[in-house]
Amino acid sequence: MKFDFDSLILKSPFYTEDHQQWREWTVRPFVEKEIIPFINEWEKNESIPDELWPKAAKAGLFQIGYPEEYGGVKKGTDIFHILITAEELARSGSGGVYASLSVQSIGLPPISNFGSDELKNEVIPKILAGEKRICLAITEPSGGSDVANIKTNAFKDGDHYIVNGSKTFITDGLKSDWLTTAVRTGGEGVNGVSLIAIPGNLDGITRDSVGKKQGWWCSDTATIYFENVKVPIKYLIGNENQGFKPIVHNFNNERIGIVAACLGASRICFEDALTWAKERITFSKPLSKHQVIQHKFAEMLRKINATQAYMDLCGWQMINGTTDAADISMLKVQATLTLEFCAREASQILGGISYVRDSRIERIYREVRVMAIGGGSEEIMRDLSSRQMGL
Ligand SMILES: Cc1cc2nc3c(=O)[nH]c(=O)nc-3n(C[C@H](O)[C@H](O)[C@H](O)COP(=O)(O)OP(=O)(O)OC[C@H]3O[C@@H](n4cnc5c(N)ncnc54)[C@H](O)[C@@H]3O)c2cc1C
Repeated sequence: MKFDFDSLILKSPFYTEDHQQWREWTVRPFVEKEIIPFINEWEKNESIPDELWPKAAKAGLFQIGYPEEYGGVKKGTDIFHILITAEELARSGSGGVYASLSVQSIGLPPISNFGSDELKNEVIPKILAGEKRICLAITEPSGGSDVANIKTNAFKDGDHYIVNGSKTFITDGLKSDWLTTAVRTGGEGVNGVSLIAIPGNLDGITRDSVGKKQGWWCSDTATIYFENVKVPIKYLIGNENQGFKPIVHNFNNERIGIVAACLGASRICFEDALTWAKERITFSKPLSKHQVIQHKFAEMLRKINATQAYMDLCGWQMINGTTDAADISMLKVQATLTLEFCAREASQILGGISYVRDSRIERIYREVRVMAIGGGSEEIMRDLSSRQMGL
């Protein structure tokens, strides 16, 4: 029996023929043609060519879930199309590409779900066409986990907000045209937080790279400074001091997307390790014939299957309006620990060759850390799920 990426996908009842075609006819050819041949160069150069965004838009990767009147595609699509996209992007072996191309899926939904019609008209069509880019700026130098305590401040002055403060670790923050930014417009805590769509070209905004990173090299990660930035009030997303609602709304989608990316990368670990284990001879037989190595594969597959089964169930709950934030939090931990395990075991199985640059395993091994920290760390995910248990 063959055990490659595709055969590792459980035949789950939630997937239809259309999902299969989306994977095989749309996303996979795009990744194989537009990303895989160039990824090592992009990683080395620590940047992705701007042309990739309009190409991804043209392939249909950005539009799912957004209203038709703004260029989106809702009919006939669901969360599984988005999860498949994340899994297939992971086949490039670069989480940085996934992070960069999917950042609109966290920057744009607050506008799409809570913004005024004027704001939606101004922002959404150009993002979905890949002509403009948007990021989500929540984390600050003083911390990312405690979102209720953000310090970046926005006070009203006539028909503007004046924004002061800074954000850091913002994916695509150097190049984004729009910055969906969490600011403090009221008192302390959750009820003083608002979200504003800030045009990136306003006076008083400066941006800087956070510097060299352990992984996600091709993805830009920025610190953004706001010094007396005058933002028209019309760019407020939803109601003042009620920014936490769109932020929390975003988290479930962001987290399940990270889960799918981890799942895709875990399958790559399995696939690359198995190919090697069948070819590599040690002590007069293929590595795959040593029981210790066989158990590594059994454990990887067990964890990969458990992650997919849990992810699919959470996806189904999202479609049916019964999303459980605690489940998604535990699922994210399940997925990052699975990836951590698979990356380690694949690296052990490949041996020295896994330590060489440009091997998918070498990169995935480095990128595990950010998956366990970004979008809600493992500690915060466990915290959230135990709170929902009433502990
Ligand atoms: C490459 C990269 C890209 C990113 N992209 C974005 C982005 O696009 N937009 C954005 O807004 N942010 C982004 N982030 C930020 C990311 O979301 C934060 O790093 C994350 O939320 C954790 O925040 P922190 O790093 O400030 O750690 P802190 O909040 O300072 O926490 C440090 C450690 O302490 C643990 N901890 C904190 N509180 C508790 C507690 N109560 N109990 C137990 N443990 C606790 C945390 O789990 C963590 O391990 C990105 C980060 C990276 C590395």
